[in-house]
Amino acid sequence: MKKKHDADSRSRQNRNILRLTYGAAGLFVCMALYFGWFIQFESENVIGNSYNSRLDQFSDRIVRGPILSADGAVLAQTQTSEDGTERRSYPYDYLFVHSVGYSSDHGRTGLESLANFYLLSSHINLIEKTVNELRGVKSPGDQVVSTLNLKLQQTASEALGNYRGAVLAMEPDTGKILTMVSQPNFNANQVDERWEELTAKDNTKAQLLNRATQGLYPPGSTFKIVTALEYRKENPDSWQDFTFDCTGVYQNGEDTIRCYHGEAHGTQNLIQAFANSCNGAFAQIGLELDAARYRRLAEQLLFNAQLPYSMVYNRSSFAMGEEADDWERMQTAIGQGKTQMTPFHNLLLVSAIANGGTLMRPYLIDRVENVGGQTVKKFLPSAGGTLMTADDAGFLSHLLEQVVAIGTGSAFRGAPYAVAGKTGSAEFETGKETHSWFVGYAPVEDPKIAVCVLAEEAGSGGQVAAPIARAVFDAYFAMDPQ
Ligand SMILES: [Zn+2]
Repeated sequence: MKKKHDADSRSRQNRNILRLTYGAAGLFVCMALYFGWFIQFESENVIGNSYNSRLDQFSDRIVRGPILSADGAVLAQTQTSEDGTERRSYPYDYLFVHSVGYSSDHGRTGLESLANFYLLSSHINLIEKTVNELRGVKSPGDQVVSTLNLKLQQTASEALGNYRGAVLAMEPDTGKILTMVSQPNFNANQVDERWEELTAKDNTKAQLLNRATQGLYPPGSTFKIVTALEYRKENPDSWQDFTFDCTGVYQNGEDTIRCYHGEAHGTQNLIQAFANSCNGAFAQIGLELDAARYRRLAEQLLFNAQLPYSMVYNRSSFAMGEEADDWERMQTAIGQGKTQMTPFHNLLLVSAIANGGTLMRPYLIDRVENVGGQTVKKFLPSAGGTLMTADDAGFLSHLLEQVVAIGTGSAFRGAPYAVAGKTGSAEFETGKETHSWFVGYAPVEDPKIAVCVLAEEAGSGGQVAAPIARAVFDAYFAMDPQ
């Protein structure tokens, strides 16, 4: 009996030991798998996190790599002085401060933050790396080649001149961001010494704000893109019969809506009203629209929504609900009222129209290379969502082409390429000049570049923003194909 009991207890013990062993082995496998997974996928997020102080351990062994433009210019680099002190420098001073960003005592922004992991990784060959480690010499970090084009960025910044605002350009069929200008800007080499001034409460210039992706503005007449699409969706068989007699002033009860500078457009169908940006016609449309459906369409077009983008931006907002009164309905339909939009979102919307309804995910890093120029990682275009059907996109493309052919887009007539686009002159404060908008793309038959311009307090979209966009299109089509 006792023996039996001992045998039982031994075998139970053995089983327990076995269980423990298996358990430990299992745990070990899990940990190994987790570690492998961490190295493979998570380390990028942890190391890339600008709040992670362990990052300094990497910069002890690796010289932070440079950031290059798509056309080969050095946009950020690390300079090492004789005593070994490193200094991050930006050869174009202010030009890329809202896209490449800065790496300073006050943190990192833009590509300096997004690409942090790559810049502090080194893909030189293992022997060289080991020799460096043994000698206590730092290895050169990888270089990040951005999608930004120096020539276009310079052109856009010069064309915007002294206006505050933003200029953006993107390839609608890939999502590559070619240009991202925000003004006022500041010298990326002087972030630390100017920090107090830049962050002072009474600093009304707000240079740290990236107006391209964070600036919220009334979209003005560029919002007629959304209004026109909603009108057609609600009137699929009769939108072509739409007609409006414009006297320059539209009266609805006590409310008055004026066309820009009180211009009388005469009899307008929907296409003409869009091309001439007739406020009266669109105010009347606003009164007819189903508020709930209108809002759903706006949200489908990424108002009140997240954008497929991994850097800093603000959400655009469409606030009008079913309880809205006539005044708010009319104002919303012409892009005034409570609607707020970033230039970046407006660029994405027009890019989706250019691309048959599909929004390509916008991105700023083309590839990562080792110091010898060999590609280590390549970023490929991917779809970021379907904003509308191809049929809807075709309808809006036609409207946008007519803006240039017969309407407010006269700045593009005579260009050696065909442009489609929409101007906007958005009121934001009584007694001040309007914000000047343009969104569009070219060539219409096979869109290669989409552009968005917002110039604050600059006046008419057709007279200010459209010529700025033209300068960017001209520079783009004058470049050698890459
Ligand atoms: Zn009118």
